[in-house]
Amino acid sequence: MILKNKLDISGQNLDAYSRIKYDVVIIGSGAGGGTLAYALATKGMRVLLVERGISIPKEDDNWTEKGALGNKYRTRKNPINHFYVGGATKLYGAALYRLRAQDFVSTSHSNGASPLWPISYDELEPYYCKAEQLYRVHGSLDEDPTEPFHSMPYPYNPISHEPFIQTIVDKLKQNGHKVSSIPRGIDVGPNRTCIFCSTCDGYACKVHGKMDTEVAAILPALQTGNLDLVSEAECLRLTTNSSGTKIIEADIRQRSQVFKVTGHSFVVSGGVKGSPQLLFKSKCSSHPNGLANSSGLVGRYLCGHNAQLLFCLNGLTKIPKLHQKTFALNEFYHGSATFPAALGVIQAAGQIPVWMGFNRLVQPLMRMLASRSLLVFFMNEVLPSYENRIFLEENGNLKTSFTPNNLESFYELRKIAINLFKNAGFPIVLSRKQPLLWHPVGTCRFGRDPQNSVLDQWCRTHDIDNLYVVDGSFLPSAGAVNTALTVMAQALRVGEHLLSK
Ligand SMILES: Cc1cc2nc3c(=O)[nH]c(=O)nc-3n(C[C@H](O)[C@H](O)[C@H](O)COP(=O)(O)OP(=O)(O)OC[C@H]3O[C@@H](n4cnc5c(N)ncnc54)[C@H](O)[C@@H]3O)c2cc1C
Repeated sequence: MILKNKLDISGQNLDAYSRIKYDVVIIGSGAGGGTLAYALATKGMRVLLVERGISIPKEDDNWTEKGALGNKYRTRKNPINHFYVGGATKLYGAALYRLRAQDFVSTSHSNGASPLWPISYDELEPYYCKAEQLYRVHGSLDEDPTEPFHSMPYPYNPISHEPFIQTIVDKLKQNGHKVSSIPRGIDVGPNRTCIFCSTCDGYACKVHGKMDTEVAAILPALQTGNLDLVSEAECLRLTTNSSGTKIIEADIRQRSQVFKVTGHSFVVSGGVKGSPQLLFKSKCSSHPNGLANSSGLVGRYLCGHNAQLLFCLNGLTKIPKLHQKTFALNEFYHGSATFPAALGVIQAAGQIPVWMGFNRLVQPLMRMLASRSLLVFFMNEVLPSYENRIFLEENGNLKTSFTPNNLESFYELRKIAINLFKNAGFPIVLSRKQPLLWHPVGTCRFGRDPQNSVLDQWCRTHDIDNLYVVDGSFLPSAGAVNTALTVMAQALRVGEHLLSK
């Protein structure tokens, strides 16, 4: 039976999906799952992509406060979620960095060390090139002192700074700093679709000019006819054969209907929370602590970045509406003259309506402040710790237990960042002291030792031969640059592995 591939299958007979044995069933359509679906479907594999969220329509709300940061789609049950076709990339800033080569080896920090990866930078490098092509990354090899080796240049030239931003960049450079362009996945090349607006980071793009995973990977993969996408459909459970050695089917619920799908391989790509959640929920007599959890490490080693915003106040004058996420300072990545251990990055943020994240009473004040400030991120690495984890409570609720670490370096970076912008002409620079966990990764880490990791180097679970986890949870550490490109590159690498089987 030939099925029509379309985004919303409501009204269709879901049983039709149950009658096909897919080559690969992928649960979750974010940076990991959506990119993997592209890698497989464009090479002829029959793929089912299951996504619990909606496909965000192209409508005016995308670019309003109502639509920003997914506000429109929040529910009481899911107050903060990134359940969309394309996952969190629908809202991301498309800063598509490669991890630095040193992030793949054990790196010393003032408060500990990050672990050795099971693969080297050189092994992932060709897939970084492919991911940069797919996501149309604009960047420069000449500006960033930490830029790792590229076997191919960026596919597109770096994005020019807006005049307002250029004056700040010039001032920072005059003060002796190494300012670099942020590698960005937005379509400002020939026949551009991006209109270079201020509503990019934190917003779903209304014109599909931002290369999120839906736009760059899923829509082209659907064109092949090899991909079926079921949206607004949650995978409730994966079931193994009687000996627990293989996954044989997945239970999918769309609205009130539950149906089963089968495949040769199953890939869980639900993100750092969604993937452990599904593995826990699928526990059975052969896997009493959850699937792929013989090590007891599913959900553990949650890490990522300690991040905070700087509000660089532009006096009483509002910052004009502009596309400001174009410059970064990575010169402190490995430390500074006075702080010899790893620090992190300082990076322009987009014009995000950050006040929406505050209590209603302080929102007017935060709005006034934010609209008069250049918003800049700074972030350093949260080191992987066994105690930081996602877990299921007895009643089935998903919980996070997380204590930030590596704070000495975070506070040093904060001090550097504040001084740097004061010296660049912003006499008042404000920033909260407590870091937020940003770019979370690591809840199903990959590694060579099955007792010390959940996945092997191909993101296949050590315990079950035809079960993979491909999303941010495979990373054993986060470095200090944005992590989505690494998820995309590894998804392309895993895709090649699955094709070769
Ligand atoms: C505002 C914002 C800005 C960001 N900016 C950047 C940036 O500039 N650069 C960068 O590198 N990163 C950025 N990020 C982070 C980046 O988007 C994420 O790291 C990345 O999307 C993670 O990919 P993933 O595949 O792990 O998960 P996700 O992209 O979160 O995808 C997981 C998907 O799985 C689905 N799912 C989960 N469980 C199930 C289930 N049981 N059944 C069906 N579907 C399921 C979810 O609905 C979701 O769509 C940003 C994030 C946000 C929120």
